[in-house]
Amino acid sequence: MASRTSSSQELFARACTVIPGGVNSPVRAFTSVGGTPRFMTSAQGPWLTDADGSTYVDLICSWGPMILGHAHPAVVDAVRSAAGQGLSFGAPTPAEIELAEAIIARVAPVEQVRLVNSGTEATMSAIRLARGITGRKVVVKFAGCYHGHVDALLAQAGSGVATLGLPTSPGVTGAQAADTVVLPYNDLDAVRAVFAERGAEIACVITEAAAGNMGAIAPVPGFNAGLREVCHAHGALLVVDEVMTGFRVSPSGWFGVDGVAGDLYTFGKVMSGGLPAAAFGGPAAHMAHLAPAGPVYQAGTLSGNPVAVAAGLATLRAADDAVYAALDANATRLGTLLGDALSAAGVPHRVQYAGSMLSVFFTEDEVRDYAGAQAAATWRFPAFFHALLERGVYPPPSAYEAWFVSAALDDRCWETIEAALPTAARAAAGATP
Ligand code: PLP
Repeated sequence: MASRTSSSQELFARACTVIPGGVNSPVRAFTSVGGTPRFMTSAQGPWLTDADGSTYVDLICSWGPMILGHAHPAVVDAVRSAAGQGLSFGAPTPAEIELAEAIIARVAPVEQVRLVNSGTEATMSAIRLARGITGRKVVVKFAGCYHGHVDALLAQAGSGVATLGLPTSPGVTGAQAADTVVLPYNDLDAVRAVFAERGAEIACVITEAAAGNMGAIAPVPGFNAGLREVCHAHGALLVVDEVMTGFRVSPSGWFGVDGVAGDLYTFGKVMSGGLPAAAFGGPAAHMAHLAPAGPVYQAGTLSGNPVAVAAGLATLRAADDAVYAALDANATRLGTLLGDALSAAGVPHRVQYAGSMLSVFFTEDEVRDYAGAQAAATWRFPAFFHALLERGVYPPPSAYEAWFVSAALDDRCWETIEAALPTAARAAAGATP
């Protein structure tokens, strides 16, 4: 029942001649699962439609932002109306204050935010600010956490870096890598040990609020609180990256789940409504170090773009309690269906959640860190993935990515998923390393 892919194949061949690898972000290329990436032409609610006219239940949601589903009327109206007023002014606007206020109202430790254009810019700027505030250079990050393609943060990064099996990236200098210390996720003893040795050099620890880029791995109880404690004992800052979790796992992101206050925060995805916008923020005293108020330089021609701001604001406004209840219920329902199908096919697996983000690891052991994720039978994933894709379900094309639900999943979506899963689980069972 393979779906038609001739148009996607033609488009991919054409794309490969003018775009490196045929894609504008590596994980889209299906490198680790094989086959042809589907070229999408439209999306509505929980459904994607590709260039061959096939439809898919979207379980990626643009890698997180589309919590309301695609082309939500309130968001589309807001974007249309903003676009009609002008696309970019290069000057401040009233709406960017409203978006800043909306973020600050949801995440208590954040008193000020600066809007940027991508999650990468947010983490890059937060790291620069942490270094500027502390006058120190070393950054501690965790293996398997991805914070965008910032030079200093690419070492043992998750997401596409994990998918492509890269230790780090050519083009990142030894000096940039040398100022980054990479530790195992969820290992507070390792953090304490490195602080005992180099505490006076460490500007900050950056962590995903809950890891989603090596599959979904929630912090073990006390991990985030322990990071805060160790950082503060040594005069370092805790940078909490909520680009993926922010405004998805609760109205106030992972902060709404564990209540641990970071010193600096990064946001993206949901607060952009699917357009290019992101933010970083923290207490006013920290943010006062940023130009033009302070000496740490940071800027952006399109930062606070009025159309992106309108999409983000409309998304946050539409994300009411019912949306968050639906996200939680849909994640649990999907995880249960995945687990039941794999159990029925006799495939060793573990469905893990980080709030309403989830993923499937082909192992029976709890996965707490990147080494655990790498030890799973990831070779089962391509067969599982393609069997789902051919039956109209669009999961992330990598064993190292989280699955994202929207609140828009409806009965027809669940029927499609339930019909596809038994075959996909048998395909995973029949896969060989
Ligand atoms: N931080 C986290 C936790 C992410 O998941 C991502 C992207 O997936 C980023 C930062 C980088 O965001 P962007 O792709 O918008 O640069």
